[in-house]
Amino acid sequence: MKRRVITAFFAGAVLTLGTMILIGAGGTVNSPTGTAPDRYAYYPGTEELAKDEIRLIACGTGLPSARRDQAATCFLAEVGNGDKFLFDVGTGSMANVAALMIPYDFLDKIFLTHLHTDHWGDLATIWAGGWTAGRTKPLRVWGPKGSTPDMGTAYAVENFLKAYNWDAKTRDFVLSPEPGKISVTEFDYKAVNAVVYQENGVTIRSIPAIHAGDGPVSFILEYAGLKVVIGGDTFPNRWYIEHAANADLAIHETFLTPADLVLLYGQSPEAAIGVGTQIHTSPQAFGKVMSTIKPRHAVGYHFFNEQATHDNILRGVLQTYTGPLSLAVDNMVWNITKEKITERMIVSPDQAWAVNGPNKPLKPPARGSVPDPISDFIKAGRWQPAEQAQASMVEEFKKENGLQ
Ligand SMILES: [Zn+2]
Ligand SMILES: [Zn+2]
Repeated sequence: MKRRVITAFFAGAVLTLGTMILIGAGGTVNSPTGTAPDRYAYYPGTEELAKDEIRLIACGTGLPSARRDQAATCFLAEVGNGDKFLFDVGTGSMANVAALMIPYDFLDKIFLTHLHTDHWGDLATIWAGGWTAGRTKPLRVWGPKGSTPDMGTAYAVENFLKAYNWDAKTRDFVLSPEPGKISVTEFDYKAVNAVVYQENGVTIRSIPAIHAGDGPVSFILEYAGLKVVIGGDTFPNRWYIEHAANADLAIHETFLTPADLVLLYGQSPEAAIGVGTQIHTSPQAFGKVMSTIKPRHAVGYHFFNEQATHDNILRGVLQTYTGPLSLAVDNMVWNITKEKITERMIVSPDQAWAVNGPNKPLKPPARGSVPDPISDFIKAGRWQPAEQAQASMVEEFKKENGLQ
C-alpha cells in the first residue's frame, strides 16, 4: 500500500520535474549498523515543531462513500505555538486523527467548511470518542451561517446534540458533562477574507465557496508569516484566486473526471457532468487555479486516489499547471517553513491509544447533580452472581486507587 502511494507521488515528481522541490528520500546509509536518514516517513509524536513552522496533515481526502484506505475530508494544522486546528471532520477521518496519538484536549478546535457529511460526519466520533478518551473540556466549532438559520452551523450542532441526546445524557452521568458540550461560533459565509479566529499569533480567515448551495467557505490560516489555504468544496471562484495567491501551501479540491464518475462512482452522465464540473472542480480547472495563484506547493484532494484515477486527474491538471503538486492521500504530511516544504507519509500504528494530556481526567459528577438515567426497574435486574464474581477485583482496584 505504502509503495503504491510513493510510486504515484514519484510519477508526479517526474512529470513535474524542474519545479518539483519535494524530495521524499535522501541521504545515504553509511554503515550497515547505522540509521537511515531522511526517509519518507513521519512518526507522530517524535518531532518537535519549530516556533515558525506549520505541520499540515491530511487525515481525510476521500469521498462521501466509505473506503477503508481513505476517509472523507479532514486536515489537521499544527502550528509552532502549540495550537492545533481541525479543518473539517469528514466521515471516517477520526481513525487517522487518533493514530497521531495527540491528547484530545489539544484537539478542541474544529473549523467546518460546510455541512455535507463528508466534511462533518465524524463530529460524532471526536465528540463522543474524545469525551470517553480523556478530553476534559468542551469542543469549539466554527462554521458558516446559512442563508436561513436552519442551513447554518449553529442549527446543525444544536440538532446534532438533540439527535445524540441519549448518548449525552448517559455519558453525563458516568463520565462528566463538561466535555460533551459544544460551543459554536458562526460567521457570515459571504464575508470575504474576514477574520473568524485570531489568537496567539494565528489568524484564520474565511472566503466564500461555490458549492451545491449557499453557505460553504474555504479557510486561510496565517501564522509566522506563512499562509496555508484549506479549500473546501467549490467550483473555482474569484475569492480563492484573489486571497490564496502566493500561499505557501494551497489546498484545493480536484474532483474525479466525469468519465470516472460514470465508470467508477455509479453516476449518470447527466449527474457526472454537473457534479464533476459545476459544483466541484475538474482537474483542468484545478490546474488553472494553481497556475494563476502560484503557491509554493499545491495540493489536490477529494477523490479516491488509485493508479487509474490518479493518472486521469494528473493528466488533466498537467494541461494547465506544471508546478509543485501533491495529489493527496490520507496520512500525507507537509512540514512548512520559510526555507522549505517537506512532504512525507505518516507511519502510525493501527492500534493507537490516545495519549494522556497535561490535564487530569475528570471525575464523574457528584451524586445527585446529574439525573441518573437508569431506573430502579432496570437496576433491579442486575444479576448478583456477576457482582460476586468480580468482587475481589473491584475491592483490589478501589484499594489501589484510594476509592470508597
Ligand atoms: Zn460538499
Ligand atoms: Zn465534499
